[in-house]
Amino acid sequence: MMKHLIAAIALVAAFPVPAQDVPPAPLPFVLKQVGPGVYAAIDGPEHKAGSNAGFVIGDDGVLVVDAFFTQDAAKALVAEIRRLTPKPIRYVINTHYHADHTGGDQVLRDAGAIIIAHRNVRGWVRTNNINLFGDRITPELKARIEALPLPGLVTDKDLTVWLGSRKVVVRTVLGHTGGDLTISVPDAKVLFTGDMLWRRIAPNLIDGSVKEWTATDLDFTHLSASAQTRFVPGHGDVADVKDVAEFRGYLLDLKRLVGEGRKAGLKNDALVQNVAPKLRALHSDWTISDRAIAAEVRYMDQELAGTKKRPVPVAD
Ligand SMILES: [Zn+2]
Repeated sequence: MMKHLIAAIALVAAFPVPAQDVPPAPLPFVLKQVGPGVYAAIDGPEHKAGSNAGFVIGDDGVLVVDAFFTQDAAKALVAEIRRLTPKPIRYVINTHYHADHTGGDQVLRDAGAIIIAHRNVRGWVRTNNINLFGDRITPELKARIEALPLPGLVTDKDLTVWLGSRKVVVRTVLGHTGGDLTISVPDAKVLFTGDMLWRRIAPNLIDGSVKEWTATDLDFTHLSASAQTRFVPGHGDVADVKDVAEFRGYLLDLKRLVGEGRKAGLKNDALVQNVAPKLRALHSDWTISDRAIAAEVRYMDQELAGTKKRPVPVAD
């Protein structure tokens, strides 16, 4: 017994555990390299980041795509960028105004980035985000939304951003909110889609138009290099063109099933009860919560009835 104890003490003395070997807190996202100097930050299984983000390292700086929901996740993203490159963080581009993509903007701005967004984001980010949370809003969350930084550079047209010799193409697209951008890195065949694509997760249609959305996703599948392109969705893992087609199929299934239910005279809860099992059966490996499916059916019903409310652009 004593011999074992002495041996154990000797072992500890010979190999003291330095403080820096204490494992760091796990990242709230999984960082995945999707091309040379191009990274996707995929929300972890506990959804602590709230959405996906990513970044592109160019010759003379870094461009970040989206900022997560929490400032802690955005700080962890900045730390990961700092681990990989000393180049300045020049831009953060918000794919749209939703707080799960803009919540960490202030962290990126403090790190030196200019916030780029669709021009409609300035009018919506501090106001319409409150609707996004519905009955889940808290006074703290409301205060945080009302303090979100406004983008410093806005556009309603396509943009090219040059990081030295590296080209990043920003496109305006239709479907998710009315103020949506995609970001592509042509030399790496990577497209950051924002919430125009969700991989095997039921999407949030609160501000969307399924008609426009499915048209945009069809365009993604027709890109010249679509078969080689890595798509970084707003939610879910890194995707390929088959995932884009599957997501579009999900939206079309939702539209068809809600349309059939409406024709049969079903409304509200009865419509949800009718559509949900059929949609789940068609997409059995998807994550589709009861809350998500009830909202999707309601919004799809409104779109087909022509009563869907979408965010209205605000004058500058
Ligand atoms: Zn969104």
